[in-house]
Amino acid sequence: MLELERNRIFGSSVLMGDYPRVSLAHLPTPLDELPRLSGALDGPRLFVKRDDQTGLATGGNKTRMLEFLVAEALQEGADVLVAYGAVQSNHVRQTAAAAAKLGLRAHCVLDGEQPSRWTGNLLLCKLLGAEIHWAGKRDRAEAIQAVVERSRSRGRCPYVIAYDQPRAAIGYVAAMEELVDQLAKRNLEIDRIVVASGGGGTQAGLIVGATALGIGGRIEGISTVFDKMVLEAKLEEMVSRTVAFLGFGASVSREDLVIHDDYLESRDGVVDPLVREAILLAAQAEGLLVDPVYSGKAMTGLIDLVRRGVFSHHESVLFWHTGGAPTLFAYAEELSR
Ligand SMILES: *Cc1c(COP(=O)(O)O)cnc(C)c1O
Repeated sequence: MLELERNRIFGSSVLMGDYPRVSLAHLPTPLDELPRLSGALDGPRLFVKRDDQTGLATGGNKTRMLEFLVAEALQEGADVLVAYGAVQSNHVRQTAAAAAKLGLRAHCVLDGEQPSRWTGNLLLCKLLGAEIHWAGKRDRAEAIQAVVERSRSRGRCPYVIAYDQPRAAIGYVAAMEELVDQLAKRNLEIDRIVVASGGGGTQAGLIVGATALGIGGRIEGISTVFDKMVLEAKLEEMVSRTVAFLGFGASVSREDLVIHDDYLESRDGVVDPLVREAILLAAQAEGLLVDPVYSGKAMTGLIDLVRRGVFSHHESVLFWHTGGAPTLFAYAEELSR
């Protein structure tokens, strides 16, 4: 762990004071206990940080990041937010909602062709008034460029939302600060955090935040997209870029980058039986909705790590919910069987 100048950076949210931020999220998000899930697993004490309740048109982890990205967009005079992703992208939907809330236009560039059914996040994007563009056979960069150029040619000022940057990750540095504050107020301690890790920005922010605040403990990333080696490299890069962005002048040790890549089976659009079980268990034990792509894989990881005894009974484990429930509707047929 690092020796950091804690007061300069974190004393009463100095960190956040230094970066332009637009208020979009309902914060702090709830910190709840999961006693029935813990009982069902005969496991450790379990908590959940409800970032599925950040409030931006069904919430999710991108809302915290958008607070900083959109602030930069507004500083640059942007009047159009451009977001890109998969058909059922949560972040594209949150961007569409942020744009609506702030009176900006949203252009959403989605992979592939328009599907036959408007459901889940795709439906929400449409309801939120976003203009949707299908990338078709073009690669993403090309499709985004076309949208940006057309928007400029109409006298607009587009800003492309990208999460693989420190300005996004600091949303989760701030989130860790928020959690530590909540834990202190309730006199609770957490030994481990389990979180879905896609591109790694969320986990990187949490790691940097935890390190800066001088709290030990492990942040277990459950990979949702990439193999361990690939995600580890991304995480390492994002951690060091975020540390540099914040001006810490220090680095995080490699052993703090914990990744599990054993729960990737659902990636081809089919729900893995273990993920399905996790979705049902979370829903039926706690009324908690997790999705097949992200948070359900993280829940699968949590359950498996408890069952394998990796988490001991004496520990307190926090599941950091990153959202994603609208995606459930895109799997309605498969999940209702
Ligand atoms: C985007 C997303 C993630 C992954 O976040 P990263 O910062 O890319 O790791 C996890 N869960 C949900 C629901 C998401 O939409």
